[in-house]
Amino acid sequence: MSGAATFAHDHVFPAENDTSWRNNAACLGVDPDLFFPPQGGATNGAEAKQICGGCPVQAECLDYAVTTAQKYGIWGGTNERERREIRKQRGLIVKTEPACGTIAGYRRHQNRNQPTCTECKAAMARYQARRKRQQNPERRAATA
Ligand code: SF4
Ligand SMILES: [Zn+2]
Repeated sequence: MSGAATFAHDHVFPAENDTSWRNNAACLGVDPDLFFPPQGGATNGAEAKQICGGCPVQAECLDYAVTTAQKYGIWGGTNERERREIRKQRGLIVKTEPACGTIAGYRRHQNRNQPTCTECKAAMARYQARRKRQQNPERRAATA
């Protein structure tokens, strides 16, 4: 190895963020592959998590990864699934309801055993009509 130690996550840092905390990162100079283990890899990031455990900027790192929704890799001792949980707890992931007047809206009513509203009924009727036309090309030709 030569030159200054590089931060394992260098390639995913957008330039505009304040990332001065990483100068104290315990993963400086550590093989980035540890923090971005291949899918289904044997270690599954365990080694990286151990390094994070002794890192003086773990809190900053985790906060950064959570607020910028880092999808891949071990950050602040967490993997993506664990960060998703944290994001949920912090209310950073808001589940949006499918709107009425759409097929998804129609299914939402059904899944909840609710009566279907007029907009959703109309959306389903349009969808079924479209499907019928697609399944009967002769009829489409006849009415064209
Ligand atoms: S918490 Fe882990 S990933 Fe984050 S800077 Fe420290 S060692 Fe690197
Ligand atoms: Zn509806």
